[in-house]
Amino acid sequence: MSLPADRDLQTDGAPETVAVVGGGAVGATAAYDLSRHGVAVTLFEAGHVAGGSSGRAAGICYDAFAEDRDARVAARAIERFREFDGRGDFAFEGTPYVWLAREGDDRRADAIREQVPRMRANDRDVTLLDPDGLAAAFPTLRTDDVAVAAVARDAGVVDPATYPPLLASLAAEEGATIREATPVRVATNDDGDDGPAVVSDDGEREAFDAVLVAAGAHTKRLLADAGVPIAMKPYRVQALTAGFDRDVPVCYDATAGVYLRPHPDGLLVGDGTEEREADPDDWRRAADDWFVDGAVAAVAGRTGREASVERAWAGLCTATPDRDPLLGELRDGLFVATGFQGHGFMRAPALGEAVAAELLGGEGIEAFAPTRFDGDESFEVVEGMVVEE
Ligand SMILES: Cc1cc2nc3c(=O)[nH]c(=O)nc-3n(C[C@H](O)[C@H](O)[C@H](O)COP(=O)(O)OP(=O)(O)OC[C@H]3O[C@@H](n4cnc5c(N)ncnc54)[C@H](O)[C@@H]3O)c2cc1C
Repeated sequence: MSLPADRDLQTDGAPETVAVVGGGAVGATAAYDLSRHGVAVTLFEAGHVAGGSSGRAAGICYDAFAEDRDARVAARAIERFREFDGRGDFAFEGTPYVWLAREGDDRRADAIREQVPRMRANDRDVTLLDPDGLAAAFPTLRTDDVAVAAVARDAGVVDPATYPPLLASLAAEEGATIREATPVRVATNDDGDDGPAVVSDDGEREAFDAVLVAAGAHTKRLLADAGVPIAMKPYRVQALTAGFDRDVPVCYDATAGVYLRPHPDGLLVGDGTEEREADPDDWRRAADDWFVDGAVAAVAGRTGREASVERAWAGLCTATPDRDPLLGELRDGLFVATGFQGHGFMRAPALGEAVAAELLGGEGIEAFAPTRFDGDESFEVVEGMVVEE
């Protein structure tokens, strides 16, 4: 796996020009990392930078991953978030991440007990807590229904809408061209020539040495239209902010499938996953009543306090058959970055960097190679924040 620090990025045989399609957290990171290594990058964004899922995310970031590779990715991402903290409007606010399983939910409780030692073996600052330990560490959380909990200390919250604009502006400082309000498609042989290229709405074809499609929920459709199927399905998730008068940590109740985090409004509460494929051009932006009611009840259950809802919304995540990203080269000069299964924001600084490194001539992350699937696999959408394997 290559998840290189600056000094290790290779530039031999690197493309001179790259089109990045999509100005979300991942595309903007890749655009920045490519630009600062001398690549002439054009970032095409259909709307505005951060206007996709990245701007609708909850902004929860943690390194609590059990797999070696995932732990390294997450640790690198947090390290970079800290480096970017205070630049532009972006701030990384360190706050512990707690996750728990309730009494009677043996499957998830066992998974937490099994994963925490693996996280610790990967040098993650993660501790297993029994209900008394949880109550002592986080007195604002109700703990009498908890079987087991864990806390990750290297975690934080951000306003996710501030990250892509920072990275896009850093990319622009390194010479990248940022073209907002410019939807493009991936060129096919029918558009003339056969090298990597994009075509804008007015039919103009622009050739590049490589094209990276990081178009979030639209990635599958964009590539399918170019004759390149990928095994990815967009799906809808939901979140809300609410007035709240107590300090709480970031907390994920794995049994309920609901997370909450401190937020300038008071609290942010989320999940409301619809485990079926969504149409990226036709989905409901507002939250559903069942989600809002369930989220408010979950907050009351976990904290003993009422939350008064301020704003509720939905957004799209992207699923893959094995719940790992599709990250890297698909065809000669055609790269993809998608399939983040609800964890795309927190890993964007590392995954954007990793795909940039592959574009620059590095090896990429083998387990995330998009070519591990043919693209026509049938699979079920499974929510992103699951603890069981
Ligand atoms: C409610 C909610 C809460 C979430 N919470 C978290 C969280 O706490 N932590 C976490 O890690 N993840 C979270 N996620 C997931 C996270 O939002 C995504 O994994 C991440 O933002 C994906 O980033 P991206 O850059 O791949 O895609 P996006 O941010 O969607 O960016 C893709 C961009 O491509 C553009 N685009 C699309 N088509 C074209 C085209 N034809 N031409 C040009 N541009 C195009 C879009 O306009 C968009 O701006 C959450 C998601 C939602 C919806």
